Amino acid sequence: MKPAVFSYLRPTNLQEALTFLEEYGEDAKILSGGQSLIPTMNMRLSAPAYLIDISRISDLNYIKLDGDFLAVGALTKHKDIENSDLVKDACPLLSEAIRWVGHTQIRNRGTVGGSIAHGDPSAELPCVLTALRGEIVIANVDGSEEVLVPEEFFLTYMLTSLQPEQMVKEVRFPIIPQESGSAFVEVARRHGDFGLAEVAAVLDIDNEGHLLNVKIAVGGVNPTPIALEQVEEYLIGKKLTDEVLRQVSDLTQESVDPESDLHGTAEYRRELAGTLTVRALKIAVERARGGEKNV
Ligand SMILES: Cc1cc2nc3c(=O)[nH]c(=O)nc-3n(C[C@H](O)[C@H](O)[C@H](O)COP(=O)(O)OP(=O)(O)OC[C@H]3O[C@@H](n4cnc5c(N)ncnc54)[C@H](O)[C@@H]3O)c2cc1C
Repeated sequence: MKPAVFSYLRPTNLQEALTFLEEYGEDAKILSGGQSLIPTMNMRLSAPAYLIDISRISDLNYIKLDGDFLAVGALTKHKDIENSDLVKDACPLLSEAIRWVGHTQIRNRGTVGGSIAHGDPSAELPCVLTALRGEIVIANVDGSEEVLVPEEFFLTYMLTSLQPEQMVKEVRFPIIPQESGSAFVEVARRHGDFGLAEVAAVLDIDNEGHLLNVKIAVGGVNPTPIALEQVEEYLIGKKLTDEVLRQVSDLTQESVDPESDLHGTAEYRRELAGTLTVRALKIAVERARGGEKNV
């Protein structure tokens, strides 16, 4: 199908884009890489009267270190993250996760800001951001900015706290120290599909192998990605014994609340979340021990 008729606007800077948003508000949609918006418009699930194409705002395309963060401009494409040595070095979890986003063609056009603003609970970047306790920088038309954490930003399935006149400007991923181990694991029905469930984990270990600073998030099993705080607390100071891993699986399954759909039952997704959490932890610990840092 083809989309409903719309007016096309192409601002060349952030302020111009925000001014358009202020003027057209709920009648307008930002067009970034178009990898989610255009399909929904083609299926007539969305019919904005105005499309504000931000793809020429080159100021929003960057990956840089900023204090304790890897700061990624909203217009940065998935493929740029995938190919970045800086990302591999500063946030290997992000490098690993990005390869699970759709297919090459989608990663060539899709953007970080688009993925975050779309708010799909199965999307990889929101899951990574939730695990790392990253930040989302929102731009307002008056030039002010707001910085939100994932649980403030992701409200429910495909719904964020972003107001119609606001834009995602930057996404800030905490830098992962070199000695930490991290892992991103996912199960999807076919390569390139959204995950049925996915887990992002990052942790440290001491010389005896006890866990420290554990951060884990699971996506695809709740209306938003969620941090597994109960599991994180349980793991501090423990070694990954078989008994501990059994407990981790049980606690994970208690923490999630999946629904059945045509891709899998709630029970299957719940078990999968437990299994993937165990898998991610094992890989992350191995990497913290000095094993291969990134796949
Ligand atoms: C076949 C297929 C498979 C896919 N598989 C995956 C997958 O496995 N994992 C995954 O995460 N995604 C997947 N996607 C979705 C897609 O990759 C992402 O949603 C996409 O990258 C979003 O970025 P975009 O730039 O294309 O956003 P767009 O499609 O341009 O926009 C998406 C939404 O975000 C809004 N928006 C965009 N940028 C901003 C901004 N800066 N500020 C405010 N609002 C903004 C738009 O108005 C729109 O509502 C898939 C898509 C397809 C077609």
